[in-house]
Amino acid sequence: MDKSTLNEDDGGSDSDEISQSFICCVCRELLYKPIVLSCGHISCFWCVHHSMSGLCESRCPICRHPYIHFPTICQMLHLLLLKLYPVAYKRRENQILVG
Ligand SMILES: [Zn+2]
Ligand SMILES: [Zn+2]
Repeated sequence: MDKSTLNEDDGGSDSDEISQSFICCVCRELLYKPIVLSCGHISCFWCVHHSMSGLCESRCPICRHPYIHFPTICQMLHLLLLKLYPVAYKRRENQILVG
């Protein structure tokens, strides 16, 4: 039994309403722990992390622009997403923790 399926319905489905600007170009899902690369692309922390190699230089998974420093999570975007899509964001968190 899932304990609290609170029906805080503020307008229907929570997944199809995500703005295109908050979709990760790599996994095509809501950005989770977004990072901004030096080329300006935004991606999930883990999407970039997976595409990194410890030996070679790292490249943007989207445009292959090389970068040296591993970007940090953009807290402002992170908080914004958490606020805009609390349900979808939580679901992404669970996805990542499981998979
Ligand atoms: Zn992603
Ligand atoms: Zn890029």
